[in-house]
Amino acid sequence: MLTLPALPYALNALEPFISERTMDFHYHKHHQTYIDNLNKLISNTPFAKMELEKIITETAEQKQYGAIFNNAAQVWNHTFFWHSMKPRGSQLKNPALYERITSDFGSFEQFKTTFKQEALAQFGSGWVWLIENQRGKLEIVKTSNADTPLAHHLLPLLTCDVWEHAYYLDYQNRRGEFIDGFLNHLSIL
Ligand code: MN
Repeated sequence: MLTLPALPYALNALEPFISERTMDFHYHKHHQTYIDNLNKLISNTPFAKMELEKIITETAEQKQYGAIFNNAAQVWNHTFFWHSMKPRGSQLKNPALYERITSDFGSFEQFKTTFKQEALAQFGSGWVWLIENQRGKLEIVKTSNADTPLAHHLLPLLTCDVWEHAYYLDYQNRRGEFIDGFLNHLSIL
């Protein structure tokens, strides 16, 4: 049985960029529902004994396991998203990461510009990611719906949820303002 992992900060810790109300719905309703659905789908199957990451890689791109993949990936993606943020973030104080970001994107500003462009270009529900590719280079990629870099042999380093439920209560249709808050104030970079 999977259980809802603890949030690494209080529900109101990301205000004013993400409200306590949004976090309450997003964590206690959306994230919890993916966990409940997954538990139901895998009970009495071989998946019930697997680690979450293993469930994701075993069910990726297999139509008969679509519902298990979608819920497992959403469980993992949300936990990773909570850990992609912190109060007073986005300072890029880690010297090694600073070097990699400036080397692979030109500058932190250019990284943020590209990340925001990809977030705005994701049509409908999905996720935007900073990943390390198989050649060790940093890249920004977007995925649709529940899809996750774990299913594509990419190493995720940071993500932002761009499903409407992530920002609609606070920003309505203004996804760009939500992304600005994430990139300039909340990311763990
Ligand atoms: Mn979400």
